[in-house]
Amino acid sequence: MAKGWSAVEQAAAAQAEGGSFTPYLKINASEPGPKIIRILEQGEDVNTFPVHGYKIGPAQKDYRSFTCQSEYGLPCPGCAIGLKTSIRTVLNVIERNRPQIMRGADGFAIKDPATGQYKFGPPADEVVVASVGQPTGNMLREKDSKWRGLMTRDWEVKFSGTTTQSWTLEPADPTNAAGEPASENDKLLFAKKYNLDEYMYTSPEEAAEIVRKYCGGSPQGGGFGGQTGGFQGAPQQQPATQFAAPQQAAPAPAVDAGGFGGAVAQPSAAAPAQEAPAAPPADPSGFGVAATPAAPTAPAPAQGGFGVAG
Ligand SMILES: [Zn+2]
Repeated sequence: MAKGWSAVEQAAAAQAEGGSFTPYLKINASEPGPKIIRILEQGEDVNTFPVHGYKIGPAQKDYRSFTCQSEYGLPCPGCAIGLKTSIRTVLNVIERNRPQIMRGADGFAIKDPATGQYKFGPPADEVVVASVGQPTGNMLREKDSKWRGLMTRDWEVKFSGTTTQSWTLEPADPTNAAGEPASENDKLLFAKKYNLDEYMYTSPEEAAEIVRKYCGGSPQGGGFGGQTGGFQGAPQQQPATQFAAPQQAAPAPAVDAGGFGGAVAQPSAAAPAQEAPAAPPADPSGFGVAATPAAPTAPAPAQGGFGVAG
């Protein structure tokens, strides 16, 4: 199950950051899958961002991108020098049976003193962040409409064999057109979704630094820290002042200030108050995302439905 290096890399990241890192879904040549996932956004709630790509080194893995400042209504240094814009799609997904890094009480990953390797407990379903480029994003959009919403079923995702469109995605059970409603545990995990606006944030200062350092005079200008990558290095505690989804927002659904359909369901406890009825009949996903947000009639108590913004 725990093939490839991503678990190790993530353990290292967790070690470095004391456990406050964002886990990623890895689908690539070294970790091709298949993996089973449950996607936690669909339709208008999918987060997409205009980005500019750049490289911090010669290898494929050195690719990074930062969010175009037009997303925040600001002048963009990337656009100013003519960098190509593409659309990145980021999603919260439940990764089934993901290897779980063991952590100490301090939140740091635990190493086996004998082997020096990080220790893993039993695998479990876990919310992780998936980030894909434009071709895979287009494919996801097609699947979203073809299969009644990305949230309606489990998917099998594999590396396609090419980085152009890196994902191959098919229903885990292709014979089941209707899909399977979310389980109770899935609904609990839904409440742990990451704030992807925050996650994708690139500050004006960061953008300017990236353009100066990697897109201007010196193509690979040293400093392989990776901390300036808008995507990889997005600060976890960024004050979300310039765009949608403030942390302490009123319970109203976050407005998509960028116009990219990026309204985010906050993982905070603020969500249940404004919920749609839990599992209305017309909601094949079981996540309470049916198009009936204004009729809280169903007895929705214990499981606290968590409809995505209406
Ligand atoms: Zn730009």
